[in-house]
Amino acid sequence: MARVNEMKGSEPTRRLAHVWDESLCIACGACVMACTMTNQPEMMHRKEKGWDSVASNIRRIDGVNATGKPSVLLVQCQHCDDAPCVANCPFGAVYRDDDGLVRLDAEQCAGCSYCVTSCPYNVRWFHPDSKLPMKCMGEGCLDLVAQGESPACVQACPAMARDFGDLNDPASSVSLTLRTKRSRRLLEGSGTEPKYFVVEGGL
Ligand code: SF4
Ligand code: SF4
Ligand code: SF4
Repeated sequence: MARVNEMKGSEPTRRLAHVWDESLCIACGACVMACTMTNQPEMMHRKEKGWDSVASNIRRIDGVNATGKPSVLLVQCQHCDDAPCVANCPFGAVYRDDDGLVRLDAEQCAGCSYCVTSCPYNVRWFHPDSKLPMKCMGEGCLDLVAQGESPACVQACPAMARDFGDLNDPASSVSLTLRTKRSRRLLEGSGTEPKYFVVEGGL
């Protein structure tokens, strides 16, 4: 897969994006478990420091909404078009591919943690065995996408609250959803141009 950020001025062929509909999500956690099973199955039965459940590429943040009701926010790598982790890796190990996905070249990674600390979404974590900085998308999901399938979290969701597709294709389901439903991006003002959209429901 080509490294787009090394070709100055070039843009990815596709801009693959995640869409999560918080109005449909029932907070069942199936996506979190499917993510771990698909991408780091060795972590399924290990209780690691800092994780409420399994170590996953999805973080669950529990809170309270404006009406005082419990709410949940699911956060994962936003595959930022202007990613601080890409800009700050001194070894060129983090790059954006021509699907617009932010990826790691493990051979180049020195484990310096600059990508982990520079991510404003706090979605990277160090694998306790490999010491590599993990995040969405894991290798298992990259394989699924390469085969034309949806990532594990999308396949596992029983509430149809997740979708994944190409923003450059006006006919894709994600483009259609974003045209017809109200949505927001996280830390919109930080200039990262994230490709993770939170659908709020309604028009
Ligand atoms: S796309 Fe794959 S790696 Fe990313 S959050 Fe979903 S299941 Fe996890
Ligand atoms: S969310 Fe964090 S890890 Fe993902 S591309 Fe953006 S800065 Fe990098
Ligand atoms: S699997 Fe779907 S419904 Fe369950 S927590 Fe994940 S997004 Fe929400």
